[in-house]
Amino acid sequence: MKLLIIGIDGATFDLVRPWAEQGHLPNLAHLMEEGVSADLASTLPPVTSPAWPTFMTGCNPGKHGVFDFIQPTGADFSLVNSTTIRQPTIWQRLSAAGLKVGVLNVPVTYPPHEVNGFMITGILSPNSEHICHPHDLLERYRETLGEYRVAPDVQFKPGIEQSYVEDIYALIRVHGEWALTLMENEPWDVLMVHFIALDIMKHAMWRHMDERHPRHEPGPYKHAIRDGYRLVDDYIGRMLRRVPEDTTVLVMSDHGFGPLSKIVNLNVFLMQKGFLKLKGDFVNRLKAAAFHMGMTPASVYHMIETVGLQNLATRVSKETRNQVVGRFLSFNSVDWSRTVAYSMGHVGQIYLNVAGREPQGIVTTDNYESKRQEVIRALRKLRDEDGSPLVTKIILREETYHGRYAEKGPDIHVVLDDYNMIAFPLFATNNEVIADQIRGDSGSHRREGIFIAQGHNIRAAGRQDEVNILDLAPTIMAHLNQPVPPIMDGRVLEEIFVQPPQIAYADDLETGATVRQIRVLQAEETSQIEERLRNLGYL
Ligand SMILES: [Zn+2]
Repeated sequence: MKLLIIGIDGATFDLVRPWAEQGHLPNLAHLMEEGVSADLASTLPPVTSPAWPTFMTGCNPGKHGVFDFIQPTGADFSLVNSTTIRQPTIWQRLSAAGLKVGVLNVPVTYPPHEVNGFMITGILSPNSEHICHPHDLLERYRETLGEYRVAPDVQFKPGIEQSYVEDIYALIRVHGEWALTLMENEPWDVLMVHFIALDIMKHAMWRHMDERHPRHEPGPYKHAIRDGYRLVDDYIGRMLRRVPEDTTVLVMSDHGFGPLSKIVNLNVFLMQKGFLKLKGDFVNRLKAAAFHMGMTPASVYHMIETVGLQNLATRVSKETRNQVVGRFLSFNSVDWSRTVAYSMGHVGQIYLNVAGREPQGIVTTDNYESKRQEVIRALRKLRDEDGSPLVTKIILREETYHGRYAEKGPDIHVVLDDYNMIAFPLFATNNEVIADQIRGDSGSHRREGIFIAQGHNIRAAGRQDEVNILDLAPTIMAHLNQPVPPIMDGRVLEEIFVQPPQIAYADDLETGATVRQIRVLQAEETSQIEERLRNLGYL
């Protein structure tokens, strides 16, 4: 009995179901017809880097401690990595149980786990040889398969769609070919193959496909995303033909996808409302004045773009760019001794400046709730450009996170225009509350991802009610006849099985799975990962 798990980052049934019906995705259609399918609720906010650790641990971010790509550390931030995950992953648990495990390209797995099997790490990896376990894995297959890569080589910007799309398809082929070869040549009981490329592509190209997008551009790239899905579907078919009869197949995404119209500079809003204050010294007053006149990283980027120097701009070293960005307003300009709230992170996260958590926190336990309510009241008055409320939903920290690390999470998650808008992850792009996305991105995440199961011991029951990304780890453990650790928050999806597995529970002491020692990445690794995230529009 083998288990094959296929991840498609950012896949949504809004695209998969119609394209499957139209015959574009015959292999996904087959899996859905012969098995079960359901919407998969992601983490809140629905972001790649908390979603995958949540899948891998079966625990909510309050227990595993990963809330975003970045973690605020006062005026700065640090990047998360696989050792930041404060719960054992299913790869560690299954390895400890003696199963052979293969894991390819799953986000937030660098530094690689020393699994009982093989691993190549996914997004948030540096450009290095050390992204695999065993350490010579890439080396052994390089001659047959060519160079492995984690992320695109071509950085998106409007006007270079053709080379961008070709590079995305090439990335899908790299991941597909390595998967096909490794699944035949390496032993495995459980294999996870992840495709990141469609998520990256949908951020950049959504408007070409979506006729209702406010910035829709008709033209030759209308089917570019669909054809990317077709390519992934083709690799899924080739994998299915290589696995034995008694294999169970799961297909999943970490969140869904939809259109993106604008971005919101939540820090500008917090500044306008007096929750965020700037330092009053001369240099900062100059920076603030320049900022209010519109001199910002975004405006300078557009200036560079207008004169056709963007290639030069992407080639300058990170140090140079940081110096340039440093001339503008940033978290370094914030007067923390007078600041109540700030936003850092994707989609819409607000942190209060909490004493004892933030280095110069001023919000105390006594006034935490009243300050948070003040911020929420102001947020509810935030209006769209056409006067309608911008905030669709406000989710409090304790409504979505619980556990030992929950207090590290954002205090407020703001859903902006039903996720049609997202917050800018760092300080601000310019001095407007509502602004255009710097790179011209037109797609972003939604909460509902996809879940499909088919094969050995799976019912052919068609469409089911929504499941949660937390449910997958306990379901995988039970399906493989392994005890389910009680720390896991999700439930075993008994309804998908012909013969529901006998569920046994065992705590971590009994299973021998341990949490990894936290490793702080070297400066070189960090700068490479940051560079990659910046190229993808995540920073
Ligand atoms: Zn994702």
